[in-house]
Amino acid sequence: MVQREISFEGKVVVVTGAGGLICGKIAEEFAQAGAKVALLDLNKDAAQAYADTIEAAGGTAKAYEANVLDLEVLEGVREQVNADLGTCDILINGAGGNNARANTDNEFHETDLPEGTKTFFDLDKSGIEFVFNLNYLGTLLPTQVFAKDMINKEGANIINISSMNSFTPLTKIPAYSGAKAAISNLTQWLAVHFSKVGIRCNAIAPGFLVTNQNRDLLFNEDGTPKERAEKILRNTPMERFGETDEMVGSVFFLASNELASFVNGVILPIDGGFAAYSGV
Ligand code: NAD
Repeated sequence: MVQREISFEGKVVVVTGAGGLICGKIAEEFAQAGAKVALLDLNKDAAQAYADTIEAAGGTAKAYEANVLDLEVLEGVREQVNADLGTCDILINGAGGNNARANTDNEFHETDLPEGTKTFFDLDKSGIEFVFNLNYLGTLLPTQVFAKDMINKEGANIINISSMNSFTPLTKIPAYSGAKAAISNLTQWLAVHFSKVGIRCNAIAPGFLVTNQNRDLLFNEDGTPKERAEKILRNTPMERFGETDEMVGSVFFLASNELASFVNGVILPIDGGFAAYSGV
């Protein structure tokens, strides 16, 4: 029988990047659904603020300072989480993002670009490394650490955060698009790799939300939309940006062993139809 009310009562959910807009919201909703939530973030204060809100509402949450690129730190946090809340049932690999050093100014290379335009040829190697490390290694390393406790644990699963730019790259952001494509690929790899030991692995691929990391790309200082924002809306059949709470239902579906016990290795777009639309 299909269970209609989703409960994560008693589950330990570890969320990386939990001080951020999308994953802070996901952490809050898991706590409301009964989970004990570990909020990991490089920015401890940001994670703590969400943990405080959860606790004030009667939920169970604890914030931890953790760099997803530092294995030693992650191992230490895993020990603390195990002692504070118990071993991980559900891992949400949410830490990620782009960096301006890895972006081109121009959508298309042309011969007569204005002086000072940052072209493909000017991309900063360290910026590209930063983006690939944060997104790809920052998903792989926490999985190495927390999945150890998830082996053969009933209902254990991992959810990564890809992006709809993993299906077709967006202009100007080659490293971020490539790193998210790598996350989609890793999601499938992990789904296969852990299939004999009971850990499912899936990903969501959010479309366009207005958040800290892309606000400057989309809006002018006075709040008016840049041409890029207008273009996005024209290419989103539902003609609007997504909201952070619109990510939660898909995450709950993938995380629930009652609803998605046979769903493994999918990259679920949440994009208002963007990835499905050819523009014609
Ligand atoms: P955000 O910038 O609000 O949050 C990201 C969080 O990750 C921040 O709290 C930051 O402190 C933390 N972080 C950064 N580096 C870290 C590190 N090394 N170790 C630990 N924590 C670190 O971002 P968001 O918009 O909420 O995005 C969350 C996820 O969703 C990211 O993976 C992002 O790439 C992805 N995503 C976002 C969008 C969007 O439109 N915002 C679209 C598709 C995918």
